[in-house]
Amino acid sequence: MICNCNDWEGNMEKINGFIVFGFTHQMKYTGKPFVFCPWCSKKLQEEKEERLEDKIIQENDFKQKIYKECDEEDRRKLEKE
Ligand SMILES: [Zn+2]
Repeated sequence: MICNCNDWEGNMEKINGFIVFGFTHQMKYTGKPFVFCPWCSKKLQEEKEERLEDKIIQENDFKQKIYKECDEEDRRKLEKE
């Protein structure tokens, strides 16, 4: 589910960062999913225009980016200690 407003993309990117971070720490969101956009209050729409394979590739790229950033952060912390 997505919204096409200007706030959606930039803000969801940040929220997804936390989701992936939680995922890497065995945490899972079990609450009710969004029905309306939290920024513009419009009802969220199905992602019809995106092919599922493209979405999976994008998500994997994003996860790899986050994993890499997490690793780098860990390494930096270790170097300081
Ligand atoms: Zn919106």
